[in-house]
Amino acid sequence: MSIISDSLKRIKPSPTIAVTQKARELRAAGKDVIGLGAGEPDFDTPDNIKSAAIKAIKKGDTKYTAVDGTPALKKAIIAKFKRENRLNYSADQITVGTGGKQVLYNAFMATLNKGDEVIIPAPFWVSYPDMVLLAGGKPKIVKCTEQEGFKLTAEKLKKAISKKTKWVIINSPSNPTGAGYSKKEIQDLGKVLIKNKKIHILSDDIYEHVRYDNFKFFTIAQIPKLKDRTLTMNGVSKSYAMTGWRIGYAAGPRDIIKAIGKIQSQSTSNPSSISQAAAVEALNGKQDFIKTRSNAFKARRNFVVKSLNSIKGINCLIPNGAFYVFPSCKGLLNKKTKLKTDTNFVQKLLEKENVAVVQGSAFGLDGYFRISYATSMQNLNKAMKRIKSFCETLNK
Ligand code: PLP
Repeated sequence: MSIISDSLKRIKPSPTIAVTQKARELRAAGKDVIGLGAGEPDFDTPDNIKSAAIKAIKKGDTKYTAVDGTPALKKAIIAKFKRENRLNYSADQITVGTGGKQVLYNAFMATLNKGDEVIIPAPFWVSYPDMVLLAGGKPKIVKCTEQEGFKLTAEKLKKAISKKTKWVIINSPSNPTGAGYSKKEIQDLGKVLIKNKKIHILSDDIYEHVRYDNFKFFTIAQIPKLKDRTLTMNGVSKSYAMTGWRIGYAAGPRDIIKAIGKIQSQSTSNPSSISQAAAVEALNGKQDFIKTRSNAFKARRNFVVKSLNSIKGINCLIPNGAFYVFPSCKGLLNKKTKLKTDTNFVQKLLEKENVAVVQGSAFGLDGYFRISYATSMQNLNKAMKRIKSFCETLNK
């Protein structure tokens, strides 16, 4: 009999981390691989944030802190919600974890009973379904098409709701598509959720500060009738190029926040004291990094979308946030190219042209692939040439 638990057998390792690892291995073996698989900004953490961390170390802020966040960080998070989202919370409605990933994991562990359903719009961030499964819940995947801008509609949400629905996840701007929901689109979903009073909403706002073209960010907790049923998760990883520091947080109902803290108290305890001090500076300090970085990302997005759309068989929407594009490769899956699936497409691309991307099926929608453009323009230039050459050979 296997030593591995039944609950662990329900899940698989993260496919995006697997692609990044594969690219790393090929590079170590001497291949000139361009990795477009990773979900992290290539920018360095701003200096004012690094200095705050160094100061914390020197000051001796190197001990255990309160399990769910220092008073200083909770205060900075409360101020952030007030300043940027016009949302008021008190300290007992805030929790801080080791990355948004831990906060989400704890939230599902704290709330799901066997058979409880979680509505997950696809394409989705790869960890949602597996976290739900690990916690004993049931992912209810709702496919959102390219024609719908890869976004959940009120109609589809209504259809997906059952007596067992406990949560619905909204991720805007989204990983993997970069699609952001407008205020109206969120309000339309809100109307359905106001009527279904037992459902809680998990709003994953991690890409709030990576957006373009004057896209106006609106989060569902801003609908007064839904605030008490919404857990809003956010973090410093993507906003301030702090993926390695591991600080994420959430605001929401007191009972859920308390339960998340209970799990954390018996698992990891507080997130790193030094990273928390750095996150205080990230949230309270100067914010100009966000704008500079968004301008650089926007130029890359435009270049990547234009290059992809010039290739026969590829079609790519222009996303208004995050640092991903999610082009279709359906036009290249046929008898002539001998490629049947998006997985065949990305495998061959890696094999022939040394470009690592992630297949759409890993995110719950077949026939697409995800490109992360959080890499230098020089790399993107090279990668686009290789993708073009690969597709042209297929088309011949
Ligand atoms: N949510 C989404 C949609 C993500 O893409 C990520 C990271 O890739 C996270 C949450 C978690 O980020 P972190 O744990 O670094 O805060």
